Amino acid sequence: MRHQLFIDGRFVDAASGETLPTLNPHDNSTLAEVAMAGREDVDRAVAAAARAFPAWSRMAAADRGRILLKLADLIEAKADELARLESLDTGHPLRDSRTLDVPRTAACYRYFGGMADKFQGETIPVEAGFLNYTLREPLGVVGQVVPWNFPLMFTSWKMAPALAAGNCVVMKPAEITPLSALAIAELMAEAGMPDGVVNILPGLGAVAGQAVAEHPQIAKIAFTGSTATGRRIVQASAGNLKKVQLELGGKGANVVFDDADLGAAINGSAWAIFHNQGQACIAGSRLLLHERIADEFLDRFVALARSIRVGNPLDAATEMGPLTSLQHRERVLGYVDIAREQGGELIAGGRVPADASLGRGCYIEPTVVRAKSFRDRVAQEEVFGPFVTVLTFADDDDALAIANGTDYGLGGGLWTRDLRRAHRFAREMASGMVWINSYKRVNPGSPFGGVGQSGYGREMGFDAMREYTQVKSVWVNVDAQIPAWYPR
Ligand code: NAD
Repeated sequence: MRHQLFIDGRFVDAASGETLPTLNPHDNSTLAEVAMAGREDVDRAVAAAARAFPAWSRMAAADRGRILLKLADLIEAKADELARLESLDTGHPLRDSRTLDVPRTAACYRYFGGMADKFQGETIPVEAGFLNYTLREPLGVVGQVVPWNFPLMFTSWKMAPALAAGNCVVMKPAEITPLSALAIAELMAEAGMPDGVVNILPGLGAVAGQAVAEHPQIAKIAFTGSTATGRRIVQASAGNLKKVQLELGGKGANVVFDDADLGAAINGSAWAIFHNQGQACIAGSRLLLHERIADEFLDRFVALARSIRVGNPLDAATEMGPLTSLQHRERVLGYVDIAREQGGELIAGGRVPADASLGRGCYIEPTVVRAKSFRDRVAQEEVFGPFVTVLTFADDDDALAIANGTDYGLGGGLWTRDLRRAHRFAREMASGMVWINSYKRVNPGSPFGGVGQSGYGREMGFDAMREYTQVKSVWVNVDAQIPAWYPR
């Protein structure tokens, strides 16, 4: 199988002819050879997007919306195919691709399809005699760079609001998981998207990603990925003062109080870290347990972790698949040594599964580590794997200090039956999102994003529409008496 870049409504080879194999993380076999975009391809895509922009941005908003609604229908019609493709390329268990990734992707295009003609400016009550109103105008050509952990969903989170608001898009999926984004390119064309409005260019981060971040005709860059790359993007964007939106890493605190429903908290905390093999920016990767319930909680939590069915993502019974690459697995396993070096205790997992049928894949067992201090590296750094760091606390203030004791601030959760405590924590947690008696809920209407080193800007909801538009203030003299400024 060979896949090409999607530029100006057509699939084309990279100008350089370069390709990269994309691998199945289950056994590291090659799924397809994929064209890798370079600077010239980015230039061509930006030129096509700029040509498409005047007509697209002036099209009736409802008509833009209708194309996105059609796309949502097409995604649902191809749900099984897309779920399988996502599972093959990323390692997501098929049960999750089917029930989460694909429906959430369709829901996102549908939400913003409906939003296109409902997002509006305002009339401001200014001084007598003047009418003042605001226009919400699209930015122009926007660049978008997404990572490998949720390629189908993340491309929708970025492209849907940008397009609904009237922008044209140059999207760069991660080089190791480009297939679902290219499948969406095909459906875009089928949904009636005009040529050039959407361009999808798999390519290396340092080449194609960097070219998008630097491009003088790109008005904004929206990025999801590591904090280190986020910093590079900010620097690269300085040339033309691009608007920048960053959704970076996290080290989510998941706090379990001694009055919590332990059964619900154990199930939810396992999901918080082991869903998608822990490769999620909002993962509940720090498990904070009240001292009084820590032993009982851990016994039951570890038993659950050990029972999680790790296996081929395409097997319907699989609950946890492989990590995205062997290189990433080595990085995650490296944190087991880092934990031990700092006096941490490995309670479960930390190894490659013994099952010979998984021997060629990127698998790792669900891993539970108890850290000595919340300052240890495993309690501070984003591991991005099925690796949870357990810490204990004595009281609410202690819990809050630990929860807020990292530079990240993306998502966090808490489990309690005490309403006052729940709302106090929701207010005090340094975090863009807080889940109470739940974890990892997302919805296209609910703002998603972080504080601190987790980035800035919000995806989803009305906030996303604001991120992809700029405000123009228009003043009209209706019947104002203007003073004679220069009486002569
Ligand atoms: P990364 O940030 O390097 O890659 C994410 C995306 O950025 C990819 O599409 C990549 O091609 C692109 N990119 C890389 N360098 C670029 C550059 N100079 N300019 C523009 N784009 C560039 O992430 P990674 O190396 O794949 O993963 C490393 C770590 O990042 C992970 O272990 C994890 O901690 C974190 N991460 C976070 C998220 C998230 O959802 N927040 C997603 C993926 C990775």
